Amino acid sequence: MTLDFEKEKLVRELKKRKPGKVLVQLAEGIKQNATEFQPVFDELGIEVIFSGETSWGACAPAVQEAEALGADLIVHFGHAEFMKLDFPIVYIEVRDILDLNPLLQKSLSKLKKYKRIGFSYSVQHRHDVEKIKKFYEKHGKQFVLSKKLGHVAYEGHIVGCQYAGLKSIEQDVDCFLILGNQFHAMGAVLSVEKPVILLDVYNNEVRELSGLRERILKQRMASIEKFRNAKNIGIITEIKPGQKFGSPTYLLEKLKEQGKNPIIITMNELSPDKILNFYNIDAFIELACPRIAIDDFAKYPRTIITFKEALVALGIKSWQQMLKIGLV
Ligand code: SF4
Repeated sequence: MTLDFEKEKLVRELKKRKPGKVLVQLAEGIKQNATEFQPVFDELGIEVIFSGETSWGACAPAVQEAEALGADLIVHFGHAEFMKLDFPIVYIEVRDILDLNPLLQKSLSKLKKYKRIGFSYSVQHRHDVEKIKKFYEKHGKQFVLSKKLGHVAYEGHIVGCQYAGLKSIEQDVDCFLILGNQFHAMGAVLSVEKPVILLDVYNNEVRELSGLRERILKQRMASIEKFRNAKNIGIITEIKPGQKFGSPTYLLEKLKEQGKNPIIITMNELSPDKILNFYNIDAFIELACPRIAIDDFAKYPRTIITFKEALVALGIKSWQQMLKIGLV
């Protein structure tokens, strides 16, 4: 076994729930490990099918897929629970087993001018949090975990669209330290104004993400400006249970009031090729993962903005109000 996951929890849950058929969802980075999970189900005589669909977050448990297959349980590997649903789901976390000491040592020079550190981590590092806290406290720092607010599973846990927990401690810290990857840190940069430093375990680097916030905000303002000139608007919703960022009917009404010509479009998963054939739509508002418009806008053939940005474009909220809440 090369992967460290909550095997005991998995076996315990399977024995307790006694499912006939299980649909397994694997986070993208562990799809390569599917064959390592199969024996756990085989040993218990449980039929298992692995979903080949994308699994970017626990916001998207494959309930419809499970129902279509007649599965009576979903086992979701690699993310922590995002929200409660009626369908039975077991979340199994996967741990990254790494020696973080060299990276923590390296971070001290970047943290010299900061005393109070706001800390968040992606879930595969949860088992290391106590060690990390002790390390920084030993070096004279105050260590403050982000609050458990919104759809995060633990204090300090970071998810790419949930930054209320960081915002809530912003006044108590001098900087934020994120253990994870660029994706999580970039969301933090857009949500808080204090400096954000990334402990990038995958590239063995410590980076202060200065300048990124201004660059992205400038780009988002440009997209909002373009959107204001658009006439035909597509409001895109996804069927994923956790990706309901805003009300399509509310937007439909507001857009009509402003003389625009909006329609609502539904998708399993938004992608640039799917919007191509809506060739007479000038701009899109996506109510799925807000990181699609923000991170991937360049891949889209037309202007695409988030729900929050649409509120700014329509004059319902000011840009400053939006920055206060956080763009993501
Ligand atoms: S909505 Fe986007 S950022 Fe939020 S959990 Fe899902 S994939 Fe991650």
